[in-house]
Amino acid sequence: SQVPSITLNNGVEMPQLGFGVWQVPDDEAAKAVATAIESGYRSIDTAAIYENEQGTGRAIAACGVPREELFVTTKLWNSEQGYDSTLRAFDASLDKLGLDYVDLYLIHWPVPAKGAYVDTYKAFEKIHADGRAKAIGVSNFLPGHLERLLGETSVVPAVNQIELHPQLQQAESRAFHAKHDIATEAWSPLGQGKGLLEVPTVVAIARKHDRTAAQVVLRWHLQLGNVVIPKSVTPSRIAENLDVFGFELDADDLAALAALDEGKRLGPDPAEFNVGA
Ligand code: NAD
Repeated sequence: SQVPSITLNNGVEMPQLGFGVWQVPDDEAAKAVATAIESGYRSIDTAAIYENEQGTGRAIAACGVPREELFVTTKLWNSEQGYDSTLRAFDASLDKLGLDYVDLYLIHWPVPAKGAYVDTYKAFEKIHADGRAKAIGVSNFLPGHLERLLGETSVVPAVNQIELHPQLQQAESRAFHAKHDIATEAWSPLGQGKGLLEVPTVVAIARKHDRTAAQVVLRWHLQLGNVVIPKSVTPSRIAENLDVFGFELDADDLAALAALDEGKRLGPDPAEFNVGA
């Protein structure tokens, strides 16, 4: 595959670009994941709450690429936080995926009102020790949540998957992750394909490089060192989003994109998101 890998803090290699399947119904997910793997993606990001682990698993089983060449991520939903419920939920996810291990297992949200993410993470450590998740990490954790985890558990999370795009650049989280050797993975890397891809600065840089706005935004992430997981169900866009290794943004481009940060969240604030508590 043409996608470079980053080395996680436990030595596991993770492709820097993968394929996300949020909001894709199970049958369509099977098709989209098959197309993505066929196009050259080797990393897939799903979650229990997406209700497409089965379709994702079917595509993986049928794709013909050896399991060890794929990188599969899934996530524990909020309602299942707690030690025993996490172990059960993980079994259910593996079963739906039809796999005997995942490459990365993430706590989907910290759910501060529930106060269970430390116990949950201890179950993750057990799953990791048993070899059933090659790496474990979190999603949507603010630095304060990570501080607490680092103080009360022993395996440093390999990844924190957070909302991140040029309009929400997350400088504080990125600096915290860098300091603790936690990889930053960007969700909604394209800003959900909404306003961001029409922003004149992005469009102008795309024109300059004879690339698309989506490719410019993905290139920005890669040059910052982020892991990205763009989503599309359109085969031409699936291919387009992977074709980002043949050009480079220059210092002027990066400076212009840096100026787009406006702290604009598309998703919930992790400090207050307690669905499933
Ligand atoms: P995204 O930023 O990847 O945008 C996807 C949308 O952008 C598509 O639905 C399409 O409308 C548009 N698009 C895609 N490629 C395009 C292209 N080449 N040109 C023009 N438009 C294009 O948004 P996302 O799906 O929210 O995020 C990606 C993945 O991140 C998800 O699928 C999921 O795996 C993950 N995610 C995780 C969390 C979390 O809480 N951990 C939350 C949201 C998303």
